[in-house]
Amino acid sequence: MAGLYLHIPFCKQACNYCNFHFSTSLKSKDEMVVAICRELALQKNYLDGEPLETIYFGGGTPSLLDQRDLDLIFGEIFKHYPVSMQPLEVTLEANPDDLNPLKISDLRQTPVNRLSIGVQSFSEADLRFMNRAHNDSEALASIQNAQAAGFDNLSVDLIYGAPTTSHEQWAANLEQVFNLKIPHLSCYCLTVEPKTALAHQIKKGAAQPVDDEHAAQQFEFLMEKTAEAGYEHYEISNLALPGHYSRHNTSYWQGKKYLGIGPSAHSFNGMSRQWNVANNAAYIRSLQAGELAFEIEVLTPTQRYNEYVMTGLRTKWGCNLLKIKELGYEAHFAEGAKTFLLDGSMEREGNEFRLTQAGRFLADGIAAELFAEEGNG
Ligand code: SF4
Repeated sequence: MAGLYLHIPFCKQACNYCNFHFSTSLKSKDEMVVAICRELALQKNYLDGEPLETIYFGGGTPSLLDQRDLDLIFGEIFKHYPVSMQPLEVTLEANPDDLNPLKISDLRQTPVNRLSIGVQSFSEADLRFMNRAHNDSEALASIQNAQAAGFDNLSVDLIYGAPTTSHEQWAANLEQVFNLKIPHLSCYCLTVEPKTALAHQIKKGAAQPVDDEHAAQQFEFLMEKTAEAGYEHYEISNLALPGHYSRHNTSYWQGKKYLGIGPSAHSFNGMSRQWNVANNAAYIRSLQAGELAFEIEVLTPTQRYNEYVMTGLRTKWGCNLLKIKELGYEAHFAEGAKTFLLDGSMEREGNEFRLTQAGRFLADGIAAELFAEEGNG
């Protein structure tokens, strides 16, 4: 089974913290849709005929695609790719300002059966701080509109740790999604990536810096409140009511194959990783010439080990020593894990090594300590 990711590289306006690939000019949207369809046809053998289990429209802002765009893309997908016998999970990331009743009713006519809504916060102060395109009433209305139209498989993105997000506001954001019975939450800590508008604003003193302690307290509160509300914390940033894990993201973390289509999209076939050119004009030009524009890296066992540790430790399944043994790093991992088993940030059950609640605060740092360098397995 395999996954298909489509990157839609357009946004109405730039959120100040974002470092994804997108353009705020929609002039080339039609050409982009044609180029994406061409890439779908050219890459039809990448997954070796493995049936698709999930399709995921990410970005950028896929809810900027209209019905005609989606019809063209789905037509091309179903022409070239077999799909699994079990129901496909088809997710589309949507921004609240796009999700009016008309748009949602159009989406209901497509194979999309899961919406991931970029709410981020229900507070106007937070949304203005982040320079989101939507306001607080659209944040709420988008969810209510989607539910009224029959989209019950919803995921909502929330951001914590912003200087404008008081602990009371964070509690109110969580209360709101619990009241709305949202089955899946993706909750991200506001991080200040280099070269973003937010990094620039903080440097100039125009925005308050992000306080690690403030963010850590909100992460702790998130874990406590979501557990009380019945959510499973199955990946550091993802929580779901039983039966509502994101199948698409879970297959990334479990190392399954996926094909990424669109500028900047990544693909993985088990042995190599490749990534498309992150430039809309260059991507369109190359597809117009019938060529793919990507770079490729064949992963060494060391790189595969490091990726496995990085992603595995973020999930509730953790890392399996037998899998690590196949990559030749069993001794290295077991030695490195001793410290974390002793200090209580990691626990072991048979061959499974998982982070404890305390360890989740430090997941990336712990993974980095366990990384291997070429040749030291
Ligand atoms: S809508 Fe999403 S992709 Fe677009 S700028 Fe905002 S965070 Fe980035």
